[in-house]
Amino acid sequence: MNIHEYQAKEILASHGVKIQQGIAVDTAEEAVEAAKELNGETGTEWWVVKAQIHAGGRGKGGGVKLAKSLDEVKKIAGEILGMQLITKQTGPEGKLVSKVLITEDCYYPGDSETEEYYMSVLLNRETGRNMIMYSPEGGMDIESVAENTPELIFTEEIDPAVGLQGFQCRKIAYNLGLSGTAFKEMGKFVVALYEAYEGSDSSMFEINPVLKTSDDLIMAVDAKVDLDDNALYRHKHYAEMRDEAEEDPFEVEAGKFGLNYVKLDGNVGCMVNGAGLAMATMDIIKLSGGEPANFLDVGGTADAETVENGFRIILKDPKVKAILINIFGGIVRCDKVAEGVVAAYKNIGEINVPIIVRLQGTNAEEAKKIIDESGLEVLSAVLLQEAADRVREVLA
Ligand code: GDP
Ligand code: MN
Repeated sequence: MNIHEYQAKEILASHGVKIQQGIAVDTAEEAVEAAKELNGETGTEWWVVKAQIHAGGRGKGGGVKLAKSLDEVKKIAGEILGMQLITKQTGPEGKLVSKVLITEDCYYPGDSETEEYYMSVLLNRETGRNMIMYSPEGGMDIESVAENTPELIFTEEIDPAVGLQGFQCRKIAYNLGLSGTAFKEMGKFVVALYEAYEGSDSSMFEINPVLKTSDDLIMAVDAKVDLDDNALYRHKHYAEMRDEAEEDPFEVEAGKFGLNYVKLDGNVGCMVNGAGLAMATMDIIKLSGGEPANFLDVGGTADAETVENGFRIILKDPKVKAILINIFGGIVRCDKVAEGVVAAYKNIGEINVPIIVRLQGTNAEEAKKIIDESGLEVLSAVLLQEAADRVREVLA
């Protein structure tokens, strides 16, 4: 689960990671109040107004701006709030900004002593170990550093038996070119950051930039945190950080029905049980000249209600030109699914796209009978190849 920068910073701070101080607000008036409060706490006389959306590259897209007076805070916050912010991670339609984070300005003006680094913590799936990835080339887009100067990206793997070791923190500080106070501060930063990653059961932490201030403090200026959904039951207050407005509305609705749904861009909706069969079905759709409109795994216990909910979600997508239902009846009984298809048809009313149904396995014959006797315009298929051929015919 992704969360906003201000929420990620709360998690970091709760584990002792030094952060750029800030206050999240919803209006330009609150932005001014927040700026005054930050001035009281940190003495900052300039502020940064940062759009809160679940996407990076906000700075380049015009969603992160420096304000040099309270009037500017008000003006900039007013401009950013309500804007449809386009970054290279949002897609061309952009994302609506409904919150901004007002922060202290910690790049003391005109100061060449500040440095920006990159640091992330994530799981290396090849070795099965957590690793810290870091680079002296922070602030900018890390993908281009990786492409053009891969030698400037370092990694440090953590042995789960002994945890993060002191020498590893020193190595990181050394590779970042630090000495003196900044060297020690970096060590503390890395320890706290790793603890925050483990303690919050995160899948990924990305801090870009990590800032070295002119007085040798090390702090997180940006924070991207991906929490592990499967661990949210252990962190109820993190679960509350979920912002459904940032997620695909179809996926949110599918989640409420307990369906495993991922929206895609194609024209053939599919409803399948089992993730493996769903992947194979998507391949078949592609081979028959279509493009899958979604991934939908109705799970191992699909019944009439699940099928109806699945239908409703698929039909909300205006791009869908055909629906392919591919169910293998193991525990799921095909006749129940067939009843679901018939009931959904009747309950939903107008279904204007052709439906191809392939039901195989337990009670497949009863299922075919239910479909055939329903009088509905549903094409049935027995073999996967037949299903693919039907898809090709209806798209033609
Ligand atoms: P991103 O563009 O979505 O990655 O957002 P960031 O939080 O990384 O901010 C973008 C850029 O704004 C950073 O790389 C910094 O260069 C700049 N920035 C962030 N905080 C400050 C600050 O306190 N002072 C100044 N002058 N610049 C800042
Ligand atoms: Mn950033």
